[in-house]
Amino acid sequence: MKAEIIAVGSELLTPDRLDTNSLFLTRELNKLGIEVSRKIIVGDQRGDLRDAFAQALERAEVVIATGGLGPTEDDITREVAAELLGRKLESNPEVLLGIQERFRRFGREMAEVNKRQAMVPEGAVVLENLRGTAPGLWMESKGRVVILLPGPPNELEPMFARHVVERLAKRSSGLRQMTRELRVTGLPESDVDQRIAPIYTKYPSVQTTILAMAGEIQVHLRSWTKDARGTEIVLDEIVEQISVALAENIFSTRGATLEEVVAEALNLNGATISTAESCTGGLLAERLTRIPGSSSYFLGGVVSYSNDLKSAWVDVPPEMIESRGAVSPEVAISLAEGIRRRTGSTLGMGITGVAGPGGGTPEKPVGLVHVALADGGTSRERGLFFPGDRERVRWSASQAALDMVRRYFIRNSAKKPGAKG
Ligand code: AMP
Ligand code: MG
Repeated sequence: MKAEIIAVGSELLTPDRLDTNSLFLTRELNKLGIEVSRKIIVGDQRGDLRDAFAQALERAEVVIATGGLGPTEDDITREVAAELLGRKLESNPEVLLGIQERFRRFGREMAEVNKRQAMVPEGAVVLENLRGTAPGLWMESKGRVVILLPGPPNELEPMFARHVVERLAKRSSGLRQMTRELRVTGLPESDVDQRIAPIYTKYPSVQTTILAMAGEIQVHLRSWTKDARGTEIVLDEIVEQISVALAENIFSTRGATLEEVVAEALNLNGATISTAESCTGGLLAERLTRIPGSSSYFLGGVVSYSNDLKSAWVDVPPEMIESRGAVSPEVAISLAEGIRRRTGSTLGMGITGVAGPGGGTPEKPVGLVHVALADGGTSRERGLFFPGDRERVRWSASQAALDMVRRYFIRNSAKKPGAKG
């Protein structure tokens, strides 16, 4: 079964707002075995909206529109859909009462314009809105389903779950999409593909996509199936073979982020960490504290950007900076050891590099980063070179630092991250 999504709203055609409803809807529709074959964004113009609806109805069995159900003049989705399906709009007393009741609960009088939201096309099923005044609408016509949903995601999402999922599931073919998401770091995309292509090409029923981003490669496996158990087994089989081929370069087979995996490793080992960052400007600390409960493993960090503060805050010897340069293996190690000593953490991380676009030299080009990890024994250091712009270099550096912690625990402990699968 195929669906088309129409996102309605002139604000979605400006540089300021993104249509995120269709992403939510696509994920949910896929779970029901419904494929999204087209999406369109239209402004609040009658003609454009009418064209979009008319075309979608010619192609797809399910047409879902979001937005434009509000009380104001520019909210025209209801009228346009009713007109196109040849249905009269009638005021629905129950819906009207519901809206009035909602206003009363918030101590306000219902405005005259809100009466528009009680207009329901003939034969439409009203989908209750627990979070707002605009109800959703479900209409069936000539084997097609037209679903109108409110624009605000916090209204649309619960409405979809409560009122739409079951109705659509009844009509869907029984096919569903099953997925696996593997995440890899420390290998370039070409290497990943070279190692796993012999595996995934053996399974033509599974669609494999390799996505490359800064410091991370994702391998997505997708299969449309009626046989959930059988497909589960096939997907697990592929994941197992890929896990052997990519070994410890895989950090998650369940779509976890690198910071989540590192947090898990630190927690499992009862270890703490602190950070002294230069070129990443606190990004590593930010990522380590994204996870709720991060106070159990993250003690703190400094952004020692200037040479003086590298010395003042984490005791990097000025002579070292003078002789080796601020971007050097020695300074990275000194940052890591200094912050560890100052905070008393199990591990200390140091990062220094040239994020660019300026400041590069032939010996120390833009993109050169040194990352170090101190644990009280012999410190480890890696010199890396990242292509790309400032943002990409900074992100890749934080990724390399997190990966260094992850690999540290793989080598040095019985309690390995990602053991949960
Ligand atoms: P509307 O139902 O058209 O009055 O939309 C109300 C609000 O919902 C808009 O101002 C947006 O903030 C939000 N919204 C509408 N459509 C979308 C969409 N496709 N994705 C995300 N947010 C949306
Ligand atoms: Mg709107």
